[in-house]
Amino acid sequence: MAQTVKVFISFDLEGVTIVSSWREMKKDAPSFGDIRKCGTEEVSAAIRGIHHASRGRCEIVVCDAHAMGENLIIDALPKGIHTVRGSPREFYMVEGIDESFDLLFCIGYHAMAGTLRAGMDHTYSSSLLYSVKINGVFVGETEINAGLAGHYGVPLGLVTGDDQLIKEVHKFFGDDLETVITKHGISRFSMMCRHPADVQAEIEKKAARAVENIDRYKPFTFKEPIQAEFEVTSSLIGDLVAPIPGIKRTSARTLSVTTKTILDFYRMMRLMCSTGSGQA
Ligand SMILES: [Zn+2]
Repeated sequence: MAQTVKVFISFDLEGVTIVSSWREMKKDAPSFGDIRKCGTEEVSAAIRGIHHASRGRCEIVVCDAHAMGENLIIDALPKGIHTVRGSPREFYMVEGIDESFDLLFCIGYHAMAGTLRAGMDHTYSSSLLYSVKINGVFVGETEINAGLAGHYGVPLGLVTGDDQLIKEVHKFFGDDLETVITKHGISRFSMMCRHPADVQAEIEKKAARAVENIDRYKPFTFKEPIQAEFEVTSSLIGDLVAPIPGIKRTSARTLSVTTKTILDFYRMMRLMCSTGSGQA
């Protein structure tokens, strides 16, 4: 283990233990306060695990990566960390990551668009993107963000979210990385939730184990140039994004693009989503 362990935590909200629908996560919903508190506690548990395993020799950046990035209760997180908040950002869910980091953790994540019995399954935009493929393989947010981290040589060490996400992650990345199942999917908006205290205890333990096993992990990278294929949710979205330079429309709802690097893929996907935003 290096002298100081530097961990980047990307935090989404859908995979947090106590939440089952986007209705509950709206900022003006009475339940939003409890959900952001529970999410903040899950991130805090991961931070405690990192602290424990590194004996305090750690640097941690947390990226608030759901919606506008205004979910975490910053002053309820442990001291000594930095939090990326707000929008827009070029690399949204992993904004701020670079080659100085040693590990990526994905907390509160969800399965890719089109996953059966997965809570709020989607890939970046549930209203605009029906599916995303990189080099012919379907990918979700975990795979894309791990690929971007891998570009900087940063491996994925821990993922938390529902059972369907964890199945997806092990199928894609193998069994070496640490995972925590926060709840079990019943339908897109129904979950069998574990008790938050049980989940947090497991996150703390697994985060520590990921740091202890840091030398075992290898960065994940997509073969470049990247061949990406996007299926959008309507022909209107296809009409709107097709004029973006570099995009080839292959049918009413399918568009393909080749990018030199994963960074350019990420920029292109974000540009497509902002071009179609509010039109679905
Ligand atoms: Zn989200």
